[in-house]
Amino acid sequence: MGIVVQKYGGSSVADAAGIKRVAQRIVNTKKAGNDVVVVVSAMGDTTDELRDLAEQVSPLPPPRELDMLLTAGERISMALVAMAIEQLGYKAQSFTGSQAGVITTAEHGKAKILGIKPGRIEHAIEEGAIAIVAGFQGVSQQTKDVTTLGRGASDTTAVALAAALGADFCEIYSDVDGVFTADPRIVPSARKLDKVSYEEMLEMAASGAKILHLRCVEYARRYNMPVHVRSSFSTKEGTWILPASSTENEGTMEQAIISGVAHDSSQAKITVVGVPDKIGEAARIFESLAETGVNIDMVVQNVSAAATGRTDISFTLPKEDGQVAMSALAKLESAIGYERLLFADTIGKVSVIGAGMRSFPGITAKFFAALAGSGINIDMISTSEIRISVIVSDADLVNAVQAAHTAFGLDADEVEAVVYGGTGR
Ligand code: ASP
Ligand code: MG
Repeated sequence: MGIVVQKYGGSSVADAAGIKRVAQRIVNTKKAGNDVVVVVSAMGDTTDELRDLAEQVSPLPPPRELDMLLTAGERISMALVAMAIEQLGYKAQSFTGSQAGVITTAEHGKAKILGIKPGRIEHAIEEGAIAIVAGFQGVSQQTKDVTTLGRGASDTTAVALAAALGADFCEIYSDVDGVFTADPRIVPSARKLDKVSYEEMLEMAASGAKILHLRCVEYARRYNMPVHVRSSFSTKEGTWILPASSTENEGTMEQAIISGVAHDSSQAKITVVGVPDKIGEAARIFESLAETGVNIDMVVQNVSAAATGRTDISFTLPKEDGQVAMSALAKLESAIGYERLLFADTIGKVSVIGAGMRSFPGITAKFFAALAGSGINIDMISTSEIRISVIVSDADLVNAVQAAHTAFGLDADEVEAVVYGGTGR
């Protein structure tokens, strides 16, 4: 008998009716002869609501207590799903991340999984029960405190658990039918992809595609765990995330050059204006940022104007890290002697991703021409082997995604994307 790990997102368990529907699906999987382990997210927008509540009480809630609060969201849904399964006549037991053996590092709000000791889950399965595990949480090996793994990290719990249990595959249920060529919420003509390689999915997740958590894809790749992304609102086949060798199209069908267009509106840009063009200044800037734990994404340094011997350095980072980064840089003002700091949070990032671009010239030209054709100005550019990203004004973001999607021939003839639920929050 194989083990199947299923993860249900917040919009799939948003209310009592959703919980009953999910319970029926889980029971059907059990009836089909599988051992089933389920990971759940908090109901609907619970995590955001709990955060809002915390901020009303304290503008900067202590991270330990915030994790204590947020992990409660998943405890609610895990218990309710277990109850709904019992109501259908099947055995179910719910477990917190800590009880499920999810051992993490100590950083609250962004703990990393160190390992999983799923003894209690295995025991529950042996007894014939369906195990329901709270996603996105664990316990620190060092402090013994409850931790969370970062927003959207229930996906990561699921894949890590699937790997630890030796599951055949991991199913991630959400409110759309799979991974699309762009977010169907902004590109209604987006097409569902049948298969995506781990490396393309990594680039998509890192470029803002919210369908899968980045670390979940990293885990899946490391353990070669097939991931099936699908909707809990339909019975359609979703998208399989697999090794590149099994996603290449066989026979004569040409592989699409671009697999998808991702967008990200969660970033801000900082420019350090007039940095003296001397050895070590960039190192000094980024070392001080590294100390604050801020995650830097794109970096651009201009050629210095010969007359001034000064250059501008711009980089992007998550909006919520803006303040911390700006104050770290402000402290360097006299030491470096730069002219000023600029902060902009009115930017958006658009990325085209596809393993096929390795062997096709002209992709950059086509992308930029599509943006120009829509009257969109490019602010910053960065590339990897299989991705081209640009920063544009946030007002142009949706148009830019649509223009790229059309230019690379990704539009479906008929609308196939259905968004079944969720508030997109
Ligand atoms: N409930 C958590 C969040 O909203 C974790 C998850 O949904 O994956 O971020
Ligand atoms: Mg999610």
